[in-house]
Amino acid sequence: ILAQLTQQPPDALLALIKLYSADERGDKIDLGVGVYRTDDGATPVFTSIKKAEQALVDKQDSKAYLGPEGDMGFVEALKPIIFGKDFAKIDSIDGMQTPGGTGGVRLAVALAKAAGVTKVWMGTPSWPNHAQILKDVGVAAGSFNHATADGTADMAALREAIAGAAPTDAILLHGCCHNPTGIDYSLAEWEEITALLKDKGILPILDLAYQGLGDGLEEDAAGVRMVLEAVPEALIAYSCDKNFGLYRDRVGAIYMMGEGADCLPCIASNGASLARANWSMPPDHGAAAVRTILSDAALTTEWKEELESMRTRINQVRAKLAEAGVAGSVDLKPLATQRGLFAILPLSKEQIQKLREDHAIYMAGSGRINIAGLTMGNIDKFIAAVAEVSA
Ligand code: PMP
Repeated sequence: ILAQLTQQPPDALLALIKLYSADERGDKIDLGVGVYRTDDGATPVFTSIKKAEQALVDKQDSKAYLGPEGDMGFVEALKPIIFGKDFAKIDSIDGMQTPGGTGGVRLAVALAKAAGVTKVWMGTPSWPNHAQILKDVGVAAGSFNHATADGTADMAALREAIAGAAPTDAILLHGCCHNPTGIDYSLAEWEEITALLKDKGILPILDLAYQGLGDGLEEDAAGVRMVLEAVPEALIAYSCDKNFGLYRDRVGAIYMMGEGADCLPCIASNGASLARANWSMPPDHGAAAVRTILSDAALTTEWKEELESMRTRINQVRAKLAEAGVAGSVDLKPLATQRGLFAILPLSKEQIQKLREDHAIYMAGSGRINIAGLTMGNIDKFIAAVAEVSA
């Protein structure tokens, strides 16, 4: 029976990593994989995480099973970070730990489907896993254009999608630091989206995978909070893998907001049952480290400082790119107002290939670059190369 399977294409970014590793040029630049890098090109473990891990080694007295909801101390500790200290509807929200933000998105879509959602709208381009998850869970995907040519959100397309949605549809929106475009909604746009969602009554699924990497922890959650204040129900998929640098430890959560006291335990019981069928329970270590940080004022301050230094560096690189103005045919100016790790440069396949072959610059075939792959040492070379291949 297994012979019936058809070969699947390899993950394009993983193929790019292999090519990059094999390249022997000393000045090669990796803009492919989506991890934060320091100005020295490293992706270090946070100092606050190291301390939390040490505390776990010293104090953790058991690794016995926790249950499908994972570490509820972690889930609770994150609530004020995500929703704010004084969020009025906090009692309408329950959460569970998931294996990464990916697990959170997967559980949100599966839960929406179990509740009767048949179609999920999403802006394109999006993080490729979004479409894969919708397909694998078995809901239809409705798509609308996310980005305009001038580097802002395509609000006309979003308005049209919401207007045309059926009552049983859901809509998947990035909370901040849009992957892959870096194009986020402004506060005024979130206000409009909130009014449209409230009016239409479709279920929002909000994916918050980069809180703190855009403008700040509070600022990056402002859109999500605005929607939650206005609508009766929503699902939030959250990742700690970028803002705590825990990537491979797979740390995430799903939060479920429902209306009425009886509703929430029922939604959560469905979440737990789906988690059991998917992964039984999430991996513990990374979430326990996050809980350890957030339960300790000094460690929390240290984590926030580490996060701030990442954010500052990303936005410095963005500003420097934008300062260059137009490189060849590529307008770099919008990068200053876009946010997060990613941006898409309007380059053709041939131009992207030329960057790789002639300049040892590696980026995804879509033109997506990881902003944090650029350093003050290689950014001028990058701008000159983009100017040359796109002239
Ligand atoms: N959502 C988006 C938009 C992402 O870009 C990512 C990470 N690439 C995730 C969710 C999930 O991240 P992880 O599973 O690594 O926590």
